[in-house]
Amino acid sequence: MSDETTSVAESARLLDRALAVTPGGVNSPVRAFRAVGGTPRFIREAKGPWLTDVDGLRYVDLIASWGPMILGHAHPKVMAAVQDAASRGFSFGTPSENEVALAEEIVARVEPVEQVRLVSSGTEATMSAVRLARGFTGRSKVVKFAGCYHGHVDALLAHAGSGVATFALPDSAGVPTSAAGETIVLPYNDVDALEKAFAEHGDEIACLITEASPGNMGVVPPAPGFTEALRRVTAAHGALLISDEVMTGFRCSRSGWYGLEGPYEGGAPDLFTFGKVMGGGFPAAAFGGRADVMGNLAPLGPVYQAGTLSGNPIATAAGLTTLRGCTPEVYERLDVVAHTIADAASAALSAEGVPHVVQWAGSMFSVFFVSEGSRPAQTGAVRDYDDARAQDIPAFSAFFHAMLDAGVHLPPSAYEAWFVGASHDDDAVSHVLEALPGAARAASENRARMTG
Ligand SMILES: *Cc1c(COP(=O)(O)O)cnc(C)c1O
Repeated sequence: MSDETTSVAESARLLDRALAVTPGGVNSPVRAFRAVGGTPRFIREAKGPWLTDVDGLRYVDLIASWGPMILGHAHPKVMAAVQDAASRGFSFGTPSENEVALAEEIVARVEPVEQVRLVSSGTEATMSAVRLARGFTGRSKVVKFAGCYHGHVDALLAHAGSGVATFALPDSAGVPTSAAGETIVLPYNDVDALEKAFAEHGDEIACLITEASPGNMGVVPPAPGFTEALRRVTAAHGALLISDEVMTGFRCSRSGWYGLEGPYEGGAPDLFTFGKVMGGGFPAAAFGGRADVMGNLAPLGPVYQAGTLSGNPIATAAGLTTLRGCTPEVYERLDVVAHTIADAASAALSAEGVPHVVQWAGSMFSVFFVSEGSRPAQTGAVRDYDDARAQDIPAFSAFFHAMLDAGVHLPPSAYEAWFVGASHDDDAVSHVLEALPGAARAASENRARMTG
């Protein structure tokens, strides 16, 4: 990594400046490269599938801003919509037409969603959905799954020790035990644990929130029938089911994960949350669902929720144009690009004898660097957070840095999906394919020595 200090000198200089004025030098922790080491790249501009950093280095982007840039960076139509909106003012603090159009687009795509409210981040969406569920049911407890991320909401920043249902300890300092104490954390894909928790606490549980198909511990799709079990058990106990589609929404399919797996026997989730793709790279997110539940929000009902910049005219213009641009051809292209890259990654890792598992949710995928001797390496499937944590982090870090040095920017964490976009053309894809064998070799050379 000694030549890195010369080739990324400008990024290193900016990081030094940032460290003086911003904790860890970043405004969202994973950007700091703590999990993989090295210097995070400060990006100067992005176009289509390419990022250019402040040292002039170019990377094929497999982060896509963690999902939103599904059409590629600075897409001409989105750019035109943003410029047009900006020329007519930045924020009104009154209703405006694009808010209606964006809500209509979401309602048209996701069949069970009758009404939505727009907010500015996925965190706000899940926080508001949980508050609404508590207001609607008059109950306080929330059930979530270990390894599912729903933004940095106090009550949802908790995961369990392994195994059975636990009343969670906060996963972050600054979250009062009282907030996390209302949260029950369960292992994902475990119907027995689910039934047991509801048998014990069912009449205190306001809602169960789940990622529609988890992507924040890497891609861990629900086992067949698991989502339906969530619906059955929550309904039997009068709790709401919240499907967090902030990551999967409008990415896994035009209607998100629901479009792939729904409709469900026993009914749809009561509430959904959206973000990422629906903002097109701007701060726009939403929660929505059954009209009779949504009707409890202010100004109609007693559950308060508001936002100065909610439905911002520039963000809604970008989001609306992005969603309208997500045509069947776009989803076909995502599929082709994702499968080409995933197949090549898997082949390269196999050729170097690096144990791994590739998992899918529509065209969303991740590569788990599971270790030999861990359950996933033996069964070929990562089913929950404990499985995901059995990864060989040194092997992933070496792989990540070799890809970065070859001009491919993966998410700097082993627990993330690899995000592709429709602008990943054949040139960008072959650039990725060329980088893979060398990265697989680096992974092979840096495998952790496993004990047992
Ligand atoms: C990203 C994400 C969030 C949080 O969204 P922010 O806009 O970062 O606040 C919530 N839930 C899921 C499933 C996510 O992937």
